[in-house]
Amino acid sequence: MVAKIIDGRQVAASIRQECRERVEVLRQRTGVVPGLAVVLVGDNPASALYVANKVRACGEVGIRSFRQELPASIDTATLLDTIQRLSADPAIHGILVQLPLPPHIDMRRVLSAIPVEKDVDGFHLYNVGGLVVGNTVFPPCTPYGVCRLLEHEGIPVEARNVVVVGASNIVGKPMALMLMQREATVSICHAKTRDLAQYTILADILVVAAGKPNLILPQMVKTGAVVIDVGINRLPNGKIAGDVDFEGVRQKASYITPVPGGVGPMTVTMLLVNTITSAERAAGLPTEGSSRNAA
Ligand code: NAP
Repeated sequence: MVAKIIDGRQVAASIRQECRERVEVLRQRTGVVPGLAVVLVGDNPASALYVANKVRACGEVGIRSFRQELPASIDTATLLDTIQRLSADPAIHGILVQLPLPPHIDMRRVLSAIPVEKDVDGFHLYNVGGLVVGNTVFPPCTPYGVCRLLEHEGIPVEARNVVVVGASNIVGKPMALMLMQREATVSICHAKTRDLAQYTILADILVVAAGKPNLILPQMVKTGAVVIDVGINRLPNGKIAGDVDFEGVRQKASYITPVPGGVGPMTVTMLLVNTITSAERAAGLPTEGSSRNAA
């Protein structure tokens, strides 16, 4: 068996086309243009690149972006003031604080200072808690993107064995909760899991988000499994790779996402979707995405 490669770029492009249309309808009916504030603290080059990508993607679909750059020396109180100012601005429908923040900043306080109705990254404690009961205001972008990829490919989730490798607050845990909400049987593995392969081999759907290249080898994957690789690793030769041995595992899986070009483009796209949904809600329009927004 050779897996079908899930083309995240193509799925993202079609969702971005829908985004453009929603932005246009919103503008024509209400005069509102969706606005996203992107806050970058410090000069981490990877973060600067992610922010540049997000700002560019906004421009491509007609979302106005507001870029706020602050020095790494800023204290928590000053950052909270910035968030408060952005929160009060009616032209801004979404606020994103690029992570990681410098270690002296109280990240939890900062994320929870973003009003829930503008928390388009889905990291506010209310949204995090909403995942447990299956009702977020905004689903977090990466796991939301994975769910949309599975949906797009017509891959059923209900009653299937799902194994999520990685248990971070921004990817692994919300991913597991969202798939559990869709009635999968979910196992979560992390760095202290003993004998990872005894779990992964049972997976009908394997989602890997550990940040370790070649963590998942063909002998760890069930024949016919769906393999979603969230990992992004820069190799010593400068190339980008996921967490899965792509060439080996694709000989065994039924579907597989490449890195790059799989989950990555979906993450930014779901940020656009959440921002437009927020603007539609603020303008009192029915949101096209609302039926899908259930965590
Ligand atoms: P993270 O905060 O470093 O978390 C990594 C998780 O993987 C932790 O739960 C860790 O376990 C677990 N882990 C580490 N080594 C493991 C091993 N050998 N076996 C099993 N589990 C292991 O990273 P993250 O933010 O979740 O991101 C994970 C990866 O996804 C990274 O490569 C990141 O760049 C990528 N990412 C991609 C996108 C995208 O859009 N494609 C978005 C976000 C992140 P412990 O909890 O026990 O430490």
